Amino acid sequence: MFTAFLIKYAEIGIKGKNRYLFEDALIRQIKYALKKCEGKFLIHKTQGRIFIDAESAFDFDEVVDHLKTVFGIAGICPVIVTEDEGFEQLTATVIKYLEDMYRGKEKTFKVQARRTRKNYPKDSLEINRDMGEAILKALPNMKVDVHNPDIMLNIEIREKIYIYSEIIPGPGGMPVGTGGKAMLLLSGGIDSPVAGYMIAKRGVKIDAVYFHAPPYTSDRAKQKVVDLARLVSRYTGPIYLHVINFTDIQMYIYEQCPHEELTIIMRRYMMRIAEHIAKETECLGLITGESIGQVASQTMNSLIATNEVCELPVYRPLIGFDKQEIVEVSEKIGTYETSILPFEDCCTIFVAKHPVTKPNVNVIRRHERNLEEKIEELVKTALETDELIIVE
Ligand code: ATP
Ligand code: MG
Repeated sequence: MFTAFLIKYAEIGIKGKNRYLFEDALIRQIKYALKKCEGKFLIHKTQGRIFIDAESAFDFDEVVDHLKTVFGIAGICPVIVTEDEGFEQLTATVIKYLEDMYRGKEKTFKVQARRTRKNYPKDSLEINRDMGEAILKALPNMKVDVHNPDIMLNIEIREKIYIYSEIIPGPGGMPVGTGGKAMLLLSGGIDSPVAGYMIAKRGVKIDAVYFHAPPYTSDRAKQKVVDLARLVSRYTGPIYLHVINFTDIQMYIYEQCPHEELTIIMRRYMMRIAEHIAKETECLGLITGESIGQVASQTMNSLIATNEVCELPVYRPLIGFDKQEIVEVSEKIGTYETSILPFEDCCTIFVAKHPVTKPNVNVIRRHERNLEEKIEELVKTALETDELIIVE
């Protein structure tokens, strides 16, 4: 029954002179999402609203599911589009629509007409009144409530006539690409995909880096990270995933530094390398899935140690989340099932029995000096052998 969608957007409505940039970005992201759906669609912008007109048959649920991944969309309204064949015909169409949608349910409603074509024989108030009357007469279960109606029945008179009442919630946020780009440290766990999702939701494009330690981490562990990146890319668009071979660096730290500081020192090298790639690829920040106190390497003291090696801001959107809250988001966005697959990641292999929870930065720096002989060379090699995988 529906052949179009009206897209409602929230925050981008308030961006003043730059509004068109946000709208264009939103349209671009909608096009990207609909490319994966069956059917042909025309997306157009008129008077501060975005319409999607279907130009062929399409699967309603598939399209709605994909639109729900587009940040910047506050609501998705399925629309009936009809030719103007007189008010009586319009009344019949509206009544049939209400019957199909609400099948004899007790509902209150309000008609809200808008005319962008001023040569229509009735003005908006007349349409509201006459359509309201016709509905009351035809559908005895319906009552008018102009203040707080269950159904806000919108009728927009354009070249064609658009009828809609239902609003399916969108994901909110800002269109990806309007907020610059950041580098996500993506591991195979539950947290980092959620962290990437949350920053992307604010309009930020995402690149990612994964530290791989073969043979200690298997190809399957790497594939899992690629799969997670693909799931996140449903929301973010294509992700450039850098796979960095971390084995030699990790082994060298293991040989040269106290084992209880291994994780922290490793994390400092991950941050340094991630920042290096970030700067080369015009990323404006780093993103991690850290949350205060989750593990030894995420106490406030440990975060001082991992934070101090970077110049770029490190965004940690999960910093105040409990694990359960993170799990809920990961279930919602569809990454959870993949995240819990049991492949080892490089941090679990070398973990010390008693990692430091209150590392002293001066002590850590001193121990890192044990690495001076070879570490620069190892980092250089790791960067040179960066494997870039474009995930979409
Ligand atoms: P996740 O946080 O993804 O669930 P985790 O809790 O095992 O995995 P930690 O070892 O606590 O991760 O590391 C904290 C953060 O550091 C991760 O959220 C991620 O951003 C980053 N990180 C850890 N290991 C890696 C890795 N192998 N490659 C890329 N980033 C990593
Ligand atoms: Mg974690």
